[in-house]
Amino acid sequence: MDYVIPAPPVVALPVDGDARQFPVRRVFCVGRNYAAHAREMGHDPDREPPFFFTKPADALVPGGGTIPYPPATEDLHHEVELVVALGQGGANIPEAQALDHVFGYAVGIDLTRRDLQAEAKQLRRPWDMAKAFDRSAPVSALSPAAQIGHPEHRLIRLEVNGKVRQESTLDHHIWSVAETIAYLSGLVELAPGDLIFMGTPEGVAAVGRGDRLEASIEGVGELQVTIA
Ligand code: MN
Repeated sequence: MDYVIPAPPVVALPVDGDARQFPVRRVFCVGRNYAAHAREMGHDPDREPPFFFTKPADALVPGGGTIPYPPATEDLHHEVELVVALGQGGANIPEAQALDHVFGYAVGIDLTRRDLQAEAKQLRRPWDMAKAFDRSAPVSALSPAAQIGHPEHRLIRLEVNGKVRQESTLDHHIWSVAETIAYLSGLVELAPGDLIFMGTPEGVAAVGRGDRLEASIEGVGELQVTIA
């Protein structure tokens, strides 16, 4: 195929124990999937249907590392999250079959320009510029479900400069991985390569230049990010 400009590279995540990489298609993110985080953001954590926003695949920072402090914000927040990587797609996937579509899991950070998000909420505008900016999604290597199974009660944690900021367990998800895949596949036809950020527990807060973030999910992965 001849293109009139260079085609963009495929964004891909490393896979634990495999020399091959996982090519990423789309990045979906669940909003408010931990009751205590919904409360800290001023919302009622009643079990309303999940809602979603997206990030472009090239907002990923595979494997973490050093990233610049992003432009246009004075309030950059961390949100540590379980990341689900789909190996198979489909529409209207039944909940009972949803986990069969998962290739593997990672730990990710949904970096958020909280000041732009607050303004967007107030003005009833989209969240894209608060959520979908460049390098807004550091993600660890994937651990295949074939090796680690489907994590349910694992500890999820984020430390900044060695101090714990966020700590919870995956069973506090309001919507489980299976329920989320089933629901999302009723909104769009999911495809191999799609990622789902599963939402963050309480404790979100600002990070600044020079801060070192260490995210982990027990048995799933670890991720280090430094803000330059
Ligand atoms: Mn989030």
